[in-house]
Amino acid sequence: MITSTSKSFETVLENLKGENKLFLVGCGDCATICKTGDEDTVKAMKAKLEENGKTVTGWIVVTPACNVGKLRKEFKAVKQQIDDSDSILVMSCGLCVAAVIDAVEQVKPVHPGTDTGFGGETIRFGQFTERCSMCGECILEDTGGICPVTMCSKGLLNGPCGGYKNGKCEVDPELDCGWMMIYERLGKLNKLDKMEPLRKPKNFAKWKRPRKLVLTDEQKFGKKKTTNE
Ligand code: SF4
Ligand code: SF4
Repeated sequence: MITSTSKSFETVLENLKGENKLFLVGCGDCATICKTGDEDTVKAMKAKLEENGKTVTGWIVVTPACNVGKLRKEFKAVKQQIDDSDSILVMSCGLCVAAVIDAVEQVKPVHPGTDTGFGGETIRFGQFTERCSMCGECILEDTGGICPVTMCSKGLLNGPCGGYKNGKCEVDPELDCGWMMIYERLGKLNKLDKMEPLRKPKNFAKWKRPRKLVLTDEQKFGKKKTTNE
């Protein structure tokens, strides 16, 4: 789940300066859950833009709008509306903005309508929390399933900094100390020995951007492709 929050309408309008005809893209997945790119929000944006003198040539909500293949397929039905627009406003996360740029045939400005947040765990409807920073080298096995990279404000790997007070973090007293949480959980699991080994610094080479993941045919299809198949 990628979280996003809507940019203010004033910011959107400022970014669209000089462009009068717009095509809108929403996302039926994460941005629908976050209420930034669902059908109702896209329609409300259309109405607001029109009240402010813009022409909306069309709109679409794609599920999910971060899938280039899906976008290409669905853009075929609205090609003329995209052709007629000066630019595209994507009411979803930055992944969807990139995917729209890659999927759209026409070279035209593509604007972000939201601020992208984080990969989040859904606690309940409308409530999300960051639990993993997607570092590419997971150490949850040793930390009771609680991520110190994310849950400790300093991202410490070898226990608490000593600044915690009453179980709270010295950086933000509103937050529980991530390392206290790890300690308590390992204690409950009877695995406090996991605290002992000194962890090496993380391999930040695995965190360099942009990252890619390309599955082999064997991973994708469960068997090796052979030439006479
Ligand atoms: S160590 Fe933390 S940030 Fe890295 S992959 Fe595991 S949960 Fe995510
Ligand atoms: S108090 Fe706890 S969570 Fe805060 S920085 Fe120190 S170890 Fe990390």
